[in-house]
Amino acid sequence: MAPPTEQPDGNGPLGLLGGTFDPIHLGHLRLAEEAREALGLARVRLIPAGQPPHRSEPGSTADDRLAMARLAATGNPGLEIDDGEVRAERKSYTMLTLERLRTELGPQRPLVLILGADAFEGLPTWHRWQEIFGLAHIAVANRPGYSPHARRWPATLSPELAAACQDRHTADPADLRHTPAGHVMPFDMTPLAISASLIRDLIGNGHSARYLLPDSVLDYIGSHGLYR
Ligand code: ATP
Repeated sequence: MAPPTEQPDGNGPLGLLGGTFDPIHLGHLRLAEEAREALGLARVRLIPAGQPPHRSEPGSTADDRLAMARLAATGNPGLEIDDGEVRAERKSYTMLTLERLRTELGPQRPLVLILGADAFEGLPTWHRWQEIFGLAHIAVANRPGYSPHARRWPATLSPELAAACQDRHTADPADLRHTPAGHVMPFDMTPLAISASLIRDLIGNGHSARYLLPDSVLDYIGSHGLYR
């Protein structure tokens, strides 16, 4: 089957990639790019978390993480930035963001929440997680070191997540275009063992993080003295 082509219009499925992005790196950007191509998304919206609920305080401010995401997206018309979670003065719960996006975009626009395998595995800990399926599809990418993967799940998923996904699974990207929400689709991306924590550790220890993230982001980190 030929891969789906990019949707030229503003009504095609919109990919949503949230994250702490502390800092944004090439794992995030390949995830967005490969999801856009593999799933036929019109665009992918990067949504930096303001106050991530599931982790300790980030190593840089929300404004710095937003600025780095903007730099990373520069020059790619397939990417856009959503500053809603950074601007909201509350914990960044995905459900609240999806409700805001439904108000902004209407009930019919297909929304595809893009998650790496580690984030997907943690889904049952998220605020009102079962309601997410009513507002968006979920696309899950492999990530080195994490087990839930296209070819192996639901065997490796927790029973509650497997039960929630059982009747939602699809391998056909057309399903993501024809309905606004409700499917779960695993897809393969180029495995990249890059993480923000690796980059913070490298910089904190005085090592080079070059070629793991865009030069523009690395320059920002250097000029603002982040992660030292
Ligand atoms: P940290 O190392 O600080 O935990 P991170 O690199 O995991 O950060 P996040 O901002 O927490 O980055 O991730 C946002 C989203 O991107 C999550 O869905 C995560 O699974 C996904 N992601 C991050 N890096 C990769 C990667 N290398 N491959 C696939 N997915 C990734």
